[in-house]
Amino acid sequence: MILVDSHCHIDFEEFDVDRMGVLERSVENKVAYCLVVSVEASQFESLLALVQSKDYLFASAGIHPNSVSIGSETERQWVSEAGRGAEVVAIGETGLDYFRSGGDLDWQRDRFRMHVQVARELDKPLIIHTRNAAKDTLRLLHEETAREAGGVMHCFTEDVTVARAALELGFYISLSGIVTFKNATAIQAVAKYVPEDRLLIETDSPYLAPVPRRGKRNEPGFVYHTAVFISELRGIEVSQLADITTRNFFNLFRGAKRDLHWETLMGEINA
Ligand SMILES: [Zn+2]
Ligand SMILES: [Zn+2]
Repeated sequence: MILVDSHCHIDFEEFDVDRMGVLERSVENKVAYCLVVSVEASQFESLLALVQSKDYLFASAGIHPNSVSIGSETERQWVSEAGRGAEVVAIGETGLDYFRSGGDLDWQRDRFRMHVQVARELDKPLIIHTRNAAKDTLRLLHEETAREAGGVMHCFTEDVTVARAALELGFYISLSGIVTFKNATAIQAVAKYVPEDRLLIETDSPYLAPVPRRGKRNEPGFVYHTAVFISELRGIEVSQLADITTRNFFNLFRGAKRDLHWETLMGEINA
């Protein structure tokens, strides 16, 4: 059984004290690959250095919708240059967040459009963040023909209606530990609804640790708990859920390569 954490932030300072220990623990939980997702241009160099140090880590390049602007032209130039890197398998995270930002948000929508345009130019899939902004997010994805790049709605917290619309746009749905929370009935309905070939799982660590780690710092190994929970909802074995989501990960992030050495290592752990 091999799991993938399709969205984490292990470059963040929350992991400065024990980053390598966190990665070792993720191996013990059968989490073989992690996508380390970019939120700021200024943090990208250290993110890339981390990803380059391990064969089983992949990177994205993008500026989070809540990040402070470095100027729209500079941002476009940066994303299209950083996005070209061999280790960079996705563009984002990008999208809309009307919860943490207020006022006139034209700048946020422009930044989102720019990411979609760059993803299409580079032919790399998008990582989409959306909060209190589902309608505009779907509208802009449609208007910018995001389907051509493809991508994932990460840390999905909307309902089945929004999930259906995202699936119709060709997108994948990634569920985080939130699905394990007791009151998350709408997301649990989504977890049962998403077709087998469009489902991904993630931690979004260091945030949002799943039950039974809720309230603790999250880490990639904890995606195992989310996998168990969703497999029970769908009435399948966790190993099947792992196979499905790992296959989907490599189908979507087509630049991500499975590494033979790592497969061998996993074989030893499973033995
Ligand atoms: Zn996000
Ligand atoms: Zn994130």
